[in-house]
Amino acid sequence: MVSTDIPVHKVAQSRLSQVDFDHLEFGKVATDHLFEAKYYQGAWHDARVKPFEPITLSPFALVFHYGQAVFEGMKAFYRADGRIGIFRPTKNWQRLNRSLERMAMPTIEKELFMEGLRALIETDKAWVPNKPGQALYLRPVVFATEGRLGVKVSDEYLFQIQASPVAAFYNKNLRLKVETEFVRAAKGGVGYAKCAGNYGAAFYPAKLAKEQGFDQVIWTDAKEHQFVEESGTMNIMFIIEDKLVTPPTSTSILAGITRESLLKLAPEFGLTAEERPVSLDELEERLSNGTIKEVFGAGTAATVAPIESIHLRGKDYQLPISDSDIKFKMKQYLEDLRKGVIEDKFGWNEMII
Ligand SMILES: *Cc1c(COP(=O)(O)O)cnc(C)c1O
Repeated sequence: MVSTDIPVHKVAQSRLSQVDFDHLEFGKVATDHLFEAKYYQGAWHDARVKPFEPITLSPFALVFHYGQAVFEGMKAFYRADGRIGIFRPTKNWQRLNRSLERMAMPTIEKELFMEGLRALIETDKAWVPNKPGQALYLRPVVFATEGRLGVKVSDEYLFQIQASPVAAFYNKNLRLKVETEFVRAAKGGVGYAKCAGNYGAAFYPAKLAKEQGFDQVIWTDAKEHQFVEESGTMNIMFIIEDKLVTPPTSTSILAGITRESLLKLAPEFGLTAEERPVSLDELEERLSNGTIKEVFGAGTAATVAPIESIHLRGKDYQLPISDSDIKFKMKQYLEDLRKGVIEDKFGWNEMII
């Protein structure tokens, strides 16, 4: 399937002129169109680009009752050569299929995913913002649409790729609390899937943390609350001596693409990548003796989110942040890579339109 095979039903009137590109709020404005395909009778059908508009579902739609819903998040950027690039979309496609499989939902062929992305971006090209740091956020989402109250795996689904222009991410320094009461994900559960329920389940602990004056939590393992897992909806990374340390992925940790990219790039920053468990005992000791140089969250939205304090076992530890930190060099490196101004050694700019 090539993008020209995907029918495009255009809006009668674009909303583009009503959008203030200097004051974009994350996820507030949708582009004119979205990509959509429907699953029924055992296969994906009806791939098309159509206007972004409300959808009609049965109140019995299985997604509302039993939660079969998964999503992805990625960004399209203007490159220095004036073309539009997407960073490692194959990774998002692979992860979407891992999530779908875990939720007993039908997987999506690479061609459908890639050509859907391409067709949508080509249609809504004028919506890709081009000021520094701005991007077109892309949100693939799949959910169960069959109308049935009985507990069952849905036989019908909708796959959409939605898009929203976003501003440069404002990097607030985060104050985090190590969470040892609530759990995000347990081994054998759905933590490695980007499924909607993981987010719904994380809101309450995050809300309590906010009421206590923190920005987010650092999740720990479900069994003993002894090991660090993730930070909110980002992977967590530590610079310890000359190592870039992060917990290994598992069924309870989401395999972030930013995380994996930074591990691969570690040598560029004079660091050795180390995937290993980080215990709260080690964290406490290293925060006390200052052998942790930097801590940050890694994810598509923020790229690198600086962490300025960690609350652990009743104590607040400060992590001084400076403009010369390695995390900011990493953030800049990823930005330059996506813009195509530095060598793309690994071929990570996969889709260039
Ligand atoms: C999406 C997500 C991440 C970050 O993944 P990226 O591919 O880097 O955007 C990390 N943790 C959780 C729980 C996530 O949902």
